[in-house]
Amino acid sequence: MTIEELMKLRNETVEKIVGKKEFVWINPNEIDYSEYEKALPISDEELKDAEERLVRFAPFIKKVFLETIETNGIIESPLESIFNMQKELEEKYQVNIPGKLYLKMDSHLPVAGSIKARGGVYEVLKHAEELAMEAGMISIDDDYSILADEKFKKFFSGFKVQVGSTGNLGLSIGITSAALGFEVIVHMSADAKQWKKDMLRSKGVTVIEYADDYGKAVEEGRKNSDADPKSYFVDDEKSMNLFLGYTVAASRMKKQLDEKGIIIDKEHPLLVYIPCGVGGAPGGVAYGLKRIFKENAYIFFVEPTLAPCMVLGMATELYENICVRDIGIYGLTHADGLAVGRASGLVSHLMDPILSGIFTLEDYKLYDYLRCLDKSESKRIEPSSCAAFEGPVTLMKYEASKKYIEEKIGKNIENAYHICWATGGRMVPQEDMEKFLKTHLK
Ligand SMILES: *Cc1c(COP(=O)(O)O)cnc(C)c1O
Repeated sequence: MTIEELMKLRNETVEKIVGKKEFVWINPNEIDYSEYEKALPISDEELKDAEERLVRFAPFIKKVFLETIETNGIIESPLESIFNMQKELEEKYQVNIPGKLYLKMDSHLPVAGSIKARGGVYEVLKHAEELAMEAGMISIDDDYSILADEKFKKFFSGFKVQVGSTGNLGLSIGITSAALGFEVIVHMSADAKQWKKDMLRSKGVTVIEYADDYGKAVEEGRKNSDADPKSYFVDDEKSMNLFLGYTVAASRMKKQLDEKGIIIDKEHPLLVYIPCGVGGAPGGVAYGLKRIFKENAYIFFVEPTLAPCMVLGMATELYENICVRDIGIYGLTHADGLAVGRASGLVSHLMDPILSGIFTLEDYKLYDYLRCLDKSESKRIEPSSCAAFEGPVTLMKYEASKKYIEEKIGKNIENAYHICWATGGRMVPQEDMEKFLKTHLK
């Protein structure tokens, strides 16, 4: 591609973003996986280390989070076919979704009821392990269930954990930290739902609310934490530990696909659609999946037209140095989990060579998809999660994505496995869910 062509493409994308239009952006910086593999930014050892740490902690998790007894302390979610939903979507939106549609239900992950139960829990556990090892209280070969003992609770209560959150990360960090005994402060952005703040306070977590957006909550939290030597800040915009926690989803899902007899190869490509906020959760999952399925995995993010920070950062190549307010987008999205104005620099750069593209959607569709899933599959997830369905629905509708599929996948798209990543929902109070199901914005 020439520089002129690239500039034009960028301008067109920025125009669509400013106009709050729905569109798909195909990543012009994606490179061949065989090239990418020659210089990996994160090693296999680092991925394995994250996976093993979660195995070490399984006895502790099993002991303090009783809902994980059945899985022996492994925090995992089901992968389910949603063929009825696929048919409903095809009829309702007059589209063809070639291949088979699945739902990865991180919406129902134990402990935190959202995808944050991967990264958030992981980072807090890693921090606790480091503190306990430094103090000589635990070694790598110990049975980590001892971390639930009173002695450790007392030890951890001398330390603080802080985080900035739109809601779900706060829940995940708050719940895990409280279980270990840490003092916890969650800095919540204006978009955070009331029930999430209430639940945290009921667990003894200090919740500080900001009238401002997410970036401000993170900034204040970081400042507050940095001023206190006993405090540890979980930095959603920069944390490699969070990212690594999310990557573990990939090897676990590979096992689930194996169990279903699903083989991913050139003839049977994998297309995954993940709702994106700051980028950490979808980025970690994307990185993990690419490392396993390589050129046969195609990862797309989905963002609200009212908070399209990742597509703005990646399409302009300004990454974390531009936010949606810079181009006049101030609207509050109903997708509270995705209400982020500035993308993570760490993640947007990591995604540059491997992400297939990004879809944007208007808020009203979140509720339409929610009703569709409830009606066709009797499954309920939170509105932010429903953004994922925009991927398979519009993939073959937009010229740009259709062309991308034709070039990269060709007729094998007929054998594709599409996975919509449901990122949250289990903990939504019944009353709120009933309201969501009745919400019509258009
Ligand atoms: C946090 C969240 C996301 C996106 O994760 P980021 O790391 O912010 O990109 C998606 N859906 C839900 C429900 C979330 O809570």
